Amino acid sequence: MSLDTAFERLSLPLENAFTISRGTQETAENVVVRISDDEGNTGVGAAAPSSHYGETAATVETVMPDLLKVVEEVGDPHQLERIERRMHETIERNPAARTAVSIALHDLACKQLGVPLYRYWGLDPEQTLETSFTIGIDTKERIAEKTQDAVEEGYGILKVKVGTDRDEEIVETVRENAPDATIRVDANEAWSPREAVRKIDQLEELGVEFVEQPVEAGNPEGMRFVRERAALPIAADESCITLSDIPEVAEIADIANLKLMKCGGLLEAKRMVHAARAHGLEVMLGCMVETNAAIAASAQFAPLLDYADVDGALLLAEDDYEGVPMPNGEIDLAGMDRAGTGAQKK
Ligand code: MG
Repeated sequence: MSLDTAFERLSLPLENAFTISRGTQETAENVVVRISDDEGNTGVGAAAPSSHYGETAATVETVMPDLLKVVEEVGDPHQLERIERRMHETIERNPAARTAVSIALHDLACKQLGVPLYRYWGLDPEQTLETSFTIGIDTKERIAEKTQDAVEEGYGILKVKVGTDRDEEIVETVRENAPDATIRVDANEAWSPREAVRKIDQLEELGVEFVEQPVEAGNPEGMRFVRERAALPIAADESCITLSDIPEVAEIADIANLKLMKCGGLLEAKRMVHAARAHGLEVMLGCMVETNAAIAASAQFAPLLDYADVDGALLLAEDDYEGVPMPNGEIDLAGMDRAGTGAQKK
């Protein structure tokens, strides 16, 4: 058996400019990977690199030939542990690049067997979740419009980005326009610990469910300070990157927010799910702004999670790929009639 590999950059325009406390993004630069066997099966995956974690589309393209060389040398997409380990030995960082290959291999392995990924993993597709839909930082008027649009689309869980001098107004505007929605708030490290405790008291009154990454990842004592005093549960995102972070995350947060693009592969993400549970954490899976070629793999984790934030492709104006159907935000694994991750070129 031999495997053919290829990769290409995908420049994806967003539906709305996406602003978080760190900056604004208008396009997503992803890199799509394809791995084909000699029987006509092709697995697809993608990297959605984040400069916050030191990656760009250019760095993904730079390391990709070395990663794909590992795949071609091993030659069997079912040797997932071996390939992920060897990729990590070859390229220590660059997790989004390694994840793109991991997704494509899982997709190909499942296509060879003719099963969806959740079934390859033995998961129950009925035990699925609803994804949150993210509202980026914007003017009061645009936040009102975007919230109304999200409610009209049927999304019942909204994740609101904050980290400004008008955070209460932002969340109040979302609440006024989505009175029945579940609201989660993400500060992306923007607050000081005392500011976080004060703001979270206000958010509790607005019926917010939990707050993500209130203070800097580099300040675990600050995270612990907030968690001990905050009126709401705390999720760790920027503080929670790979498996070895889990024990400390359990000391400073209630919920671990994993992302494939941070941890470097699907098997590493699964190990993180189980380690998080062993440490008493609830588990959330998040994403970057991503093509369905990548998001489809994150959607397959739904039965293992407490919270899903896999709206990365829902934020795009255009995508070359379709993925797992998400009507009204419901991750419809049972309604997916394809082998693999569910990613398919349009
Ligand atoms: Mg976050």
